[in-house]
Amino acid sequence: MTYDYDLFVIGGGSGGIATARRAAEYGAKVGLAEVGPLGGTCVNKGCIPKKLMVYTSHFPSLFQEAEGYGWSPVKSTLDWDKMVTAVNQEVERLNGIYQRMLDNSKVELYRDYGKLLDAHTIVVGEKQITADKILIAVGGHPVRPNIPGIENTIISDQMFTLPEQPKRIVIWGGGYIGVEFACIMHGLGSDVIQVIRRDKILRGFDEDLQSLIQESMEHHGIRILKNCEITSIEQTSQGLKIALQGEQNTEMVLADTIGLAATGRKPNLENLGLEKAGVEVKNGAIAVDKYSCTSQPNIYAVGDCTDRINLTPVAINEGRAFADTEFGGKPRLMSHENVPSAVFSYPEAATVGLTEAEAKEQYGEDAIKVYRSKFRPMYYVLPGKEEKTLMKLVVHQESDRVLGAHMVGDHAAEIIQGVAIAVKMGAKKADFDATVGIHPSSAEEFVTMR
Ligand code: FAD
Repeated sequence: MTYDYDLFVIGGGSGGIATARRAAEYGAKVGLAEVGPLGGTCVNKGCIPKKLMVYTSHFPSLFQEAEGYGWSPVKSTLDWDKMVTAVNQEVERLNGIYQRMLDNSKVELYRDYGKLLDAHTIVVGEKQITADKILIAVGGHPVRPNIPGIENTIISDQMFTLPEQPKRIVIWGGGYIGVEFACIMHGLGSDVIQVIRRDKILRGFDEDLQSLIQESMEHHGIRILKNCEITSIEQTSQGLKIALQGEQNTEMVLADTIGLAATGRKPNLENLGLEKAGVEVKNGAIAVDKYSCTSQPNIYAVGDCTDRINLTPVAINEGRAFADTEFGGKPRLMSHENVPSAVFSYPEAATVGLTEAEAKEQYGEDAIKVYRSKFRPMYYVLPGKEEKTLMKLVVHQESDRVLGAHMVGDHAAEIIQGVAIAVKMGAKKADFDATVGIHPSSAEEFVTMR
């Protein structure tokens, strides 16, 4: 049986593009369908525009801190329009780069919605295409809770194109995206209230990290309403009136904008024809084995639509492992262990490996030793700011292996990326101790903790 393509990819986001290019490098004939702009969530509505806004939001504190070092006061205001335009221009530039990368790799691009007709046939717009192997990399989308007035809220995608800066914004959700947007908008000068369902933000992260970020956010002036749900939203002449149920159940909050940042995301599986192709769905996501193979042996799925670890580098790695295995003759698995990640909050946080709670659950309370260091970094001394940095190592006592490393503080993502290599290699606490620190730095604490 001959097919139009060796591989057809549905979805031109982080996972889809990386896989298509890698398979094409090995000589496979590859086609790819993308219904939206190239680059997917990360480039268009996620990591990239978000990080650019994170950078923008840091300037007011830098201006303030500069005074502690002798600089005269900086009076500067944000031109919202200019920021939005600059951010979106960069997104467009990246869209163009992705286009050129696909062209250079000779991946044939179809700018339309793709769906499965059977295990080897894809319909893209009006066209029927056949392929030996198919990769589904369709990503996910934010979910809107079903409450009265929900149409008055915006999803995270819209945060990057708001026509004007909201003076008062409510961020609904305590996950990392919610926390990041709360910090961004506060840094940009909006009054921010964050509504969370539990008593702590960042479920799933190490508890010390949750506590320090939350304390710092509150210290900076972000109001966090805990153990709380929004039950209705009403448009009034004073703004959006938000009714809350929970600890603050008598309270009504007013806002100009309500951002749904972390009320959950769901894989984009509607009208994909999965049942026609015999692809199983479990808990709303495409079920895959460790090779990212679905219940249909020639169909694979990677990235957010499989709901494993929903991060860009994970989607890319899952896809490349599939391409190396199936087209490169180099079988390999993507390991989902010790995947580092960051929260671009203010202060920033990053983490790799097991949290203290996970390690104790896995190995027993007495088997784990925790090393912690909390201090005011030198940078904040002259500005007289009480910003704290936290570093933490979770160590298995018997083997001396470092099971987890967690940090809150400036450049945490940059620092933990390096520490993640050591953790991934199975470094022992003794290896950290034997490493000479770089002085003066915050990072040296990771090798001097006793
Ligand atoms: P996507 O990148 O979402 O790509 C899927 C693509 O498929 C989309 O372009 C979509 O248009 C297309 N598509 C869908 N259905 C079809 C169809 N039937 N036919 C044709 N095309 C289709 N991750 C990080 O690692 N770091 C971060 O800092 C970070 N920040 C984030 C911030 C926000 C606000 C959000 C929402 C996400 C963030 N993420 C971050 C997560 C990251 O963006 C995703 O994990 C990553 O983009 C997943 O890649 P993917 O290839 O699975 O899907």
